[in-house]
Amino acid sequence: MRIACLNCGRPYPESGVPYRCSRCGGMFDDLEPLTWTSPDPSQPGIWRYWQAIAPAGERVSLGEGRTPLIEVQLEHRRVYFKCEYANPTGSFKDRGSAALVSLLASRGVDMALEDSSGNAGASFAAYAARAGIQARVFVPETAAGPKRLQIAAYGAELVTVPGPRSEASVAVQKAADGGAVYASHAFLPHNLAGYATAAFEIVEQLEAAPGTLLVPAGQGGFILGLGRGFRALQAAGVIGKTPALFGVQAAACAPLAAYFEAGVTGLGFITEAPTLAEGVRVRSPLRMDAVVSTVRDSGGRFVTVQESEILPGRDSLARMGFYVEPTSALVWGALREWLPQLADPVVVVLTGSGYKWKPNEEH
Ligand SMILES: [Zn+2]
Repeated sequence: MRIACLNCGRPYPESGVPYRCSRCGGMFDDLEPLTWTSPDPSQPGIWRYWQAIAPAGERVSLGEGRTPLIEVQLEHRRVYFKCEYANPTGSFKDRGSAALVSLLASRGVDMALEDSSGNAGASFAAYAARAGIQARVFVPETAAGPKRLQIAAYGAELVTVPGPRSEASVAVQKAADGGAVYASHAFLPHNLAGYATAAFEIVEQLEAAPGTLLVPAGQGGFILGLGRGFRALQAAGVIGKTPALFGVQAAACAPLAAYFEAGVTGLGFITEAPTLAEGVRVRSPLRMDAVVSTVRDSGGRFVTVQESEILPGRDSLARMGFYVEPTSALVWGALREWLPQLADPVVVVLTGSGYKWKPNEEH
């Protein structure tokens, strides 16, 4: 790993946990490609790939990773569902939180801020609790009730911010300017290597490279991490070709799809409209260029799903035994529309648990 400022190249400091470059305000990322090494069978979950995630320091774990990959017969095709909702807090975010909170713990942080539409906040709150770190999580008022309850139950202080998701980001950055550690899953790159472990697992479980991967995308961090994981496997000669990555967005808020189709011009027409897929309601993804080029280079694309398709998608998945939240159910609409054109094997990533959402909430 060689984490540095994307703008001026300043290396990530040896102490403290700044979320942006102190010299120029730029974002940090890992400038070195991820390296795949054979899994360490003596370690649990994502830590089997510990050399790729966090080579040294403390480890904060709740048993994340090694989620099931379930095969389903669908219209004479075999489709595989990667059940990320089976992670400790019910979402894929745990892979990233384990890596990020391990960094905080090894740097002696005792209090940290985070902002989230729900899943990242719940995940962060759980790992912070595990590490004895006091968490303060900023959530939009639209965050689902069960997610808010989950965050508070872990002992985090919950700050509800009026307005859309983006207002919670503004509020937390204001608070961080006061000197608190802002352990942002969006600004900091440390969780991306954690997400890459899902790519490692999928290839191990399939004993082959997927042809296509369908993933819901908000910030696009998961798809970026997965892309890095598959590239590491390709560079190591484990797979010949990386899968086509399909990022799925809600039509109500689809900046990645717009940027993919029409470049910067497309961004002029983005809405941040309410959507059942609240987990991907991100108006301005921070790593837009990296995410879009990862998808483009993979031979994949971004697709959008209409609001009216989300709950029927949730129900269709549940009838097969997969109980997911509406954000995760986006992939069903995309799968129905695109399956005939997708290269096998097709892997669909189910990102968050159905327990995290309930209908008819007052928003
Ligand atoms: Zn800089």
